[in-house]
Amino acid sequence: MSADLTRRTAAELAALLRDGDVSSVEVTRAHLDRTAAVDGAVHAFLHVNTDEALATAADVDARRAAGEELHALAGVPIAVKDIVVTQGQVTTAGSKILQGWVPPYDATVVTRLRAAGMPILGKTNLDEFAMGSSTEHSAYGNTHNPWDLDRIPGGSGGGSAAAVAAYEAPLAIGTDTGGSIRQPAAVTGTVGVKPTYGSVSRYGLIALASSLDQAGPVSRTVLDSALLHEVIGGHDPLDSTSLPGQARGYADAARDGDLAGVRVGIVRELGGEGYQEGVRARFEEAVALLEQAGAEVVEVSCPSFDYALAAYYLILPAECSSNLAKFDGMRFGLRVEPADGPATAERVMAATRGAGFGDEVKRRVILGTHALSAGYFDAYYGSAQKVRTLIQRDFAAAFDQADVLVSPTTPTTAFRLGEKLDDPLAMYLNDVATIPANLAGIPGMSLPAGLSDDGLPVGFQILAPAREDARLYRVGGALERLLEERWGGPILGRAPELEVAR
Ligand code: GLN
Repeated sequence: MSADLTRRTAAELAALLRDGDVSSVEVTRAHLDRTAAVDGAVHAFLHVNTDEALATAADVDARRAAGEELHALAGVPIAVKDIVVTQGQVTTAGSKILQGWVPPYDATVVTRLRAAGMPILGKTNLDEFAMGSSTEHSAYGNTHNPWDLDRIPGGSGGGSAAAVAAYEAPLAIGTDTGGSIRQPAAVTGTVGVKPTYGSVSRYGLIALASSLDQAGPVSRTVLDSALLHEVIGGHDPLDSTSLPGQARGYADAARDGDLAGVRVGIVRELGGEGYQEGVRARFEEAVALLEQAGAEVVEVSCPSFDYALAAYYLILPAECSSNLAKFDGMRFGLRVEPADGPATAERVMAATRGAGFGDEVKRRVILGTHALSAGYFDAYYGSAQKVRTLIQRDFAAAFDQADVLVSPTTPTTAFRLGEKLDDPLAMYLNDVATIPANLAGIPGMSLPAGLSDDGLPVGFQILAPAREDARLYRVGGALERLLEERWGGPILGRAPELEVAR
C-alpha cells in the first residue's frame, strides 16, 4: 500500500483520506520514504521537513477523527519551491547568499496550504533566484530529470517538477517569471500552470522580477493542478498587485472539458523552425485530437513575439538588479568581511555579493544596472517596455479570433546536463514560447503531449486571456483524456523506473 500511495493523484489521495481508507500520516510517510529512496539520485529537494510534515499529518488525522469539517485536500502532502518563504524552515532561493536563512513569516501561498491542512514535505531545488532553465545555476548542486538522470529537469523550478515526476510528492508549488513552471513541466512529463498575473499572491515570494513573477501549481494531472490552484489563488490584501475575487471553478472546468465550439488558435510565431521535429509532431497530433473532439482550429499571428525574448532579457535584469539590492550582507543570510582593509559598509557589501552570488545572478544584475542607467534607460529599458505593450496588443488581437492559443511549450525535449551551461543565449532560448505570457500577464499551462522520437516527454502549451484561467483547465482536461486514450495511459507512466536505494 505504501509504495502504491505515491502513484496516486492528489484527487485520488483526497478521496481515500476523506473515506478514511488511509491516514495522512501514512500518505505523508509514503512520500518521505520514496524521497529517502530516490532523492539521492534525483536531488529534487534542498530540505526535507520530515518532523513538521508528519506533525501536520497527525494533526489533520486527529481533526478528521474528531469529525471536523476539513478542506478537500486536507492531509495531501506537497513540496514547495525554495524561493517561497516558510516560517521556521530554511529558505535559500538556491543561493549561497541565503544559506541557512530562516524566514520569520510565511508566504500567503504557504499560509493557504497550511490552512487547508496540507503537510509541507520540504523545499525544492531551483536555479539561483529562479534565473535559469535547467536548475544548473543552483548553488546547491544539480537536480536530475527522472526520465534520464543525465538530463536537466528544466528550470528554474526543476526541483518541484522532478519531485512530482519521481513520485516524491503528488503536488508542488512553482514560480513562473518567464517559464519556470511550464518549461520544467514540459521536460519532465508533468503539468504546470502559470496563473493570471495578480491572481495568486506574491507576498512572501523572494522577488525575481516583480512585474512578471507568479506562483502556481505543479502536478501529474490537470485536475490536480486545478484543485491546488483553488487553494492558493484569490485576493490577498498583503500583495498590492493582487486582483480581487476568488479562485473558483477550475476543478469543474477540468472535469467538464466540453470542447464543442471552442476556438483554438495556433500561434504561427511559436513553432516551426528551431523546434525539434518530435516536438512539432506531438504538437500537431494534439491539435488534431482537439479538432476531432469538436474544437475549431484557426491560425493566428503575433508578429511582436519575435522580440519577446530580447525585451524580457532587459526588463527582467532591470527589475532583478533592483530587487536583489537588499542582499547587502547586513539584513539577510551571508555576511563576508573583506579579506584585508577596513570593513566599511561598501566593502562588506562587495565581499558578500562577490562570494554569495553566482555568475548568472551577477551577469543579470550588471546587465540590469546598465539598462537602467541614465543615458541608456530610453534605449534599453524604455524600448523593452514598448515591445511589452506590442505583445499585449498581439495577444488581444489573437484572442479576438480564438478562445485559447496553443504552441509547443519548449523548442526541444530535455537536454543533457552541462550542454548549455556555458552558453547563456542558448539557455535563454528555451523560454522563447513561454515568455510572451509573462510579459502580458496572461495565464498558461503546460501538459504532456506524448514522447518525442528520443523517448522524452514533449510539452503542449495552452494560453488564455487574463482572468480566464478556467479555459486552460477546460481545454487541458479534455486534451489530457484524449491523449491518454491515444497513448494507452498517462504519459508519465512511460518513464523508466528509478533505481530505489534501500
Ligand atoms: N528561464 C527564465 C529565466 O532564466 C525563466 C525564469 C523564471 O521563470 N523564473 O529568466
